[in-house]
Amino acid sequence: MQEKFIVSIDMGGTKILASVINSTKGIISREKISTELDKSPNDYIKDIAFVSEKVIKKAGLKNNQIASICLGIPGSVNPYTGVIGIAPNLGIKNFNIKVNLEKLIKNKILIENDVNLAALGIKEFGVGKNSKNMLVVAIGTGIGGGIIIDGKIYRGSNFIAGEIGHMVIGEKGPLCGCGNKGCFEAIASRTAIVRNIINDIKKLKKKSLLEKQIKAGERIKSKLLLSAYENNDKVVVKRVNESADVVGKTLGSINNLMNFDMIVLAGGLMEAVGKYYLPIVKSSFKKTSLNESVKKTKIVLSKLADDAAIYGGISLTREFLGISV
Ligand SMILES: [Zn+2]
Repeated sequence: MQEKFIVSIDMGGTKILASVINSTKGIISREKISTELDKSPNDYIKDIAFVSEKVIKKAGLKNNQIASICLGIPGSVNPYTGVIGIAPNLGIKNFNIKVNLEKLIKNKILIENDVNLAALGIKEFGVGKNSKNMLVVAIGTGIGGGIIIDGKIYRGSNFIAGEIGHMVIGEKGPLCGCGNKGCFEAIASRTAIVRNIINDIKKLKKKSLLEKQIKAGERIKSKLLLSAYENNDKVVVKRVNESADVVGKTLGSINNLMNFDMIVLAGGLMEAVGKYYLPIVKSSFKKTSLNESVKKTKIVLSKLADDAAIYGGISLTREFLGISV
């Protein structure tokens, strides 16, 4: 029998990344294309069809060797019907991407929320292999969550579960993209850290190594935060540590409800400053978590980086199509 693979697609607001993967060979080819902002859903599906075909060709495979094409969507999705409920960064709302894409591509289309996919990938191929009840927290532009209970992804009653970033933790806090005030991500994401750093420099006139970039209006990426942190930039160290403290306390509180055996910190910010961030999260976690609960819960960094969601496509294909690749 011919060896089978899947195509895993990571849908971002500015780029679409496609990878061909299976569990024995890992990732065998990658392609990416940039997308313009304000695209229509129909433009997106054309891009996906294009990049899928390209990455399959690059891997030297034929279409019948591809068991599925799995899309990781930054938003709420129904994996059973293929409908994207809302994906703010993609500008898509109530759109059946599966039905529309299957008109252009012969392969089976599967969709899932991107952090749920990352949780599936971490559970099967990453640090979560031996975990039964696990929370994955992806910290970057926002804060996303993926919940594994008894080894399975928990999607909730209408596929919204895991939206940890929109838990309101400070009612007088900053306005969130969702319209509420004081959401977890509005207080502790990289976006929030950067907003606080900008405020410290521009309004409070504090000295920082990032002054030049901020005055020039440059985007402050995680790597830049890391280099400023390692150069002991007081403003950056304070704001990053503050975020770690909030994350630790919030997770401690969540753990009193859920009693996870593992909490995995993932996402762009963690890849950069994770090793400094993790010890603070662990100590703040103890301040709000019940003693009994602390004993059992390991808090660790993900090692799969951006590839976690790509690997998750393998688990999704088994769950929905019964095919192991
Ligand atoms: Zn919110």
